Amino acid sequence: MSKTKDINNLVRPAVRGLAAYHIDETSVRVKLDAMENPFLLPEKIRKDIGRSAQQALINRYPDPSAKKLKQAIARYWNIEPERMLLGNGSDELIQTVILAFGSPALVPTPSFAMYEITARALSQKVVTVPLTNEFDLDSDAMIKAARRTKAKVIFLACPNNPTGNRFSDAAVRKVIENVNAAVVIDEAYYSFSGRTFLPFLKWHRNMIILRTLSKIGLAGLRIGVLTASKEVIGELNKIRLPYNINTLSQAAGLVALKHATTLNKQISLLISERRKLYNALLRTPGVSPFPTETNFILIWIEKNATKVFQALKKRGILVKNLDRPGPLKGCLRVTIGTPAENREFLKNLRSCL
Ligand code: PMP
Repeated sequence: MSKTKDINNLVRPAVRGLAAYHIDETSVRVKLDAMENPFLLPEKIRKDIGRSAQQALINRYPDPSAKKLKQAIARYWNIEPERMLLGNGSDELIQTVILAFGSPALVPTPSFAMYEITARALSQKVVTVPLTNEFDLDSDAMIKAARRTKAKVIFLACPNNPTGNRFSDAAVRKVIENVNAAVVIDEAYYSFSGRTFLPFLKWHRNMIILRTLSKIGLAGLRIGVLTASKEVIGELNKIRLPYNINTLSQAAGLVALKHATTLNKQISLLISERRKLYNALLRTPGVSPFPTETNFILIWIEKNATKVFQALKKRGILVKNLDRPGPLKGCLRVTIGTPAENREFLKNLRSCL
């Protein structure tokens, strides 16, 4: 018999008090809940990935600094490889940043849930500041809160998830320039907005930029990208787990990025599908889409949004239900799918209303 009386009591209270990040694992016909790219790579490229996987030395540990993959990402996004840190998804990089800078972590709300969940899991304080009614950043309130709480790190998703809009440049710059904290600009949806704060890195040593390969079609590889000053990269590298990008992901990512034109064509098609779906939603009575610069659309539903969510799910269409008291009351979030999936979503949404 073990002397441990209650194993749960040994778990840190910060962890016991957490609610896990909710992922709906229902298997559905049309999956539009997680901002994935709906297109697989063409068969020829997948075969190349297969060949590369076959030759990979999986008996050895991975290249700890993922040199070749970093160079490929550097070429794709024009980021210096010496100022780059890769993570097992940008989720891991968010955790690395919080581990390095501590807290309070300051986050606008509503925004990406993992900033708060990760900080709390690490027993770090979180301070939230509401966005404006238009979902823009309230820069004065952010700066005030940062100064009052002595925030160490601020997370700004640009464009923002789940609202879909980009905060105004002036508000973001004002925050970066007026706080004594690391400011993370999370550009997970960069490829769908085409706008970046990358050039500002030169002038602002407190800036960190996050990107991810997930939204452009490689979510299964789990590759997140961080760029910052060499000093910050040096500190973060000390606490990064040594082999955080596995050999098969490095190999597959390298092959996929050789076909940047194919990825970019898929992105362009998704952007044009986004416009079509947005316009169709504008013409649909009883719903109202919010402006978006991402691969998803936040939709306000006049009737009971949770009922509409459930009805869609019954018909095999999964979106994200955000309907709860607060600024997202009555809202669902739909990821842009293939043209056929978007038509299917729209047809079923209209008949569920
Ligand atoms: N940042 C934002 C704003 C996101 O929406 C997401 C994914 N939902 C992530 C980061 C995490 O992406 P990943 O871990 O797949 O790189």
